[in-house]
Amino acid sequence: MTAQPKLQPALMLVDGKWEPSADGRFIAIENPAKRQAIAEVPRASAVDVDRAVRAAAKAFETWKKVAPRERGLLLMKIADAMEAQSEAIARLIATETGNALRTQSRPEAKGAADLFRYFGGLASELKGETVPLGEHVLSYTRREPIGVVGAVIPWNSPVVLGAMKVAMSLAAGNTLVLKAAEDAPLGVLKMAELCAEHLPAGVLNVLTGYGEEAGAALVQHPLVRKLSFTGSTEVGKLIMHAAADRIVPVSLELGGKSPCVVFPDSNDERTVEGVVSAMRFTRQGQSCTAGSRLFLHRSIYENFLEKLKTRLSSLKIGDPLDEATDMGAIINRKQFERVCGYIEDGMAQKGARLVTGGLPPKQGPLAEGFFVQPTVFAEVKNEWRIAREEIFGPVLAAIPWEDEADAIRMANDSHYGLAAFVWTRDVARALRVAHEIESGWVQVNQGGGQSPGHSYGGFKQSGIGREFSLEGMLESFTQRKSVTVNLKS
Ligand code: NAD
Repeated sequence: MTAQPKLQPALMLVDGKWEPSADGRFIAIENPAKRQAIAEVPRASAVDVDRAVRAAAKAFETWKKVAPRERGLLLMKIADAMEAQSEAIARLIATETGNALRTQSRPEAKGAADLFRYFGGLASELKGETVPLGEHVLSYTRREPIGVVGAVIPWNSPVVLGAMKVAMSLAAGNTLVLKAAEDAPLGVLKMAELCAEHLPAGVLNVLTGYGEEAGAALVQHPLVRKLSFTGSTEVGKLIMHAAADRIVPVSLELGGKSPCVVFPDSNDERTVEGVVSAMRFTRQGQSCTAGSRLFLHRSIYENFLEKLKTRLSSLKIGDPLDEATDMGAIINRKQFERVCGYIEDGMAQKGARLVTGGLPPKQGPLAEGFFVQPTVFAEVKNEWRIAREEIFGPVLAAIPWEDEADAIRMANDSHYGLAAFVWTRDVARALRVAHEIESGWVQVNQGGGQSPGHSYGGFKQSGIGREFSLEGMLESFTQRKSVTVNLKS
């Protein structure tokens, strides 16, 4: 066996400087497609969190007074730098997450640059209102920043989610301490490097470390005035408890088990393509918005599944850095085993039928990494575990329906409510269903990803608050102050 090359430890961004953790500990980062260590990052502890938060609190006193337009211009410079480096960022994302370069990581890197540009342009839209209380009173409102934001992000789209938290927080005049996910911090650190070239020290601090250590210390820190979390519903509940303990505002972007409702008039290739996209098969299904429950009308059920199987069999699974690859690897062993556990559960379920996929091969090139084939189960009941729990893997549960009201009832019978997809050419029916479905985002005849500008967030246990948009920034990252002036002489 050849020896592993010596890994170059990365550093964290604290108060404008690149530093290891105070106690010198590191976390190894692995390439999930090859199961090889590729880097080490600092394992931040409460001591590092405290330093970062204090730096952000100090920087806030100056940053909040920088004219919004100036802040916006800095964010736009970061957008340019991100764009110039987008290929390098994309390759880092592909290597650390296993997400295919062509289908996922490249669009993600470009999307991240776009978010800096979008929020940079919006910085001067932090307008207040005047309140008509009479001729002798001037009453107006100001949108003021909240202070230090403590943000925690997951690994599945690390750079775009990091960019969103950074751009939204900073445009609004807050300062930020961002904790990257322990499985995918390298792209985020690269983004931090580009940000640091344009921002005053302490405005953005980026830590790497584990959730129960660095994440918990950050969300509990007394100087953090706003929490913004993207991740699982389970951890989201802990974050909300931490917010309740100190009465700080909190935004939560959590999990999902989103419905895809297909009507008989959409039994076509375009819808099949849309369902593949909605299920995020080319991100191994590792998306909070994955349309993982496919409600197919009984009259087209078998025929549609046949077409879907053919399309899925054409997806090329393999090395994320290979331009030919459509679908890469699952993030880590824990998730891989978890996803395989759900596939076993589906295969053991009486009445369920495996349409395509199944347990991953134990030999051959795909066994070298955490690869799982696109998997579809038919004749699934909405109350089964594979239809209720978020698998966060490429596993789709196809559920037949005959009556529209029944399809809507099943679609809504979930504790989640993040996204939904409706497929029909009948506009009135599409909108009727879109309005009935309990989720924060419904797409009709498309299965795309979020775009800057649309307020994104969940109903029910999929989250609280909205991000990605002007309204999201105003509502979630500023606080309104009223000033009332007596004009009587
Ligand atoms: P996770 O909740 O396990 O971890 C997310 C982040 O929280 C990581 O940085 C982790 O270190 C940190 N964390 C863990 N425990 C913590 C604690 N006690 N205190 C503070 N921080 C802690 O989620 P994951 O496995 O990284 O990501 C997958 C989940 O994220 C899925 O449920 C998915 O649906 C969700 N997600 C949601 C959205 C959205 O926008 N709604 C987007 C992407 C992912």
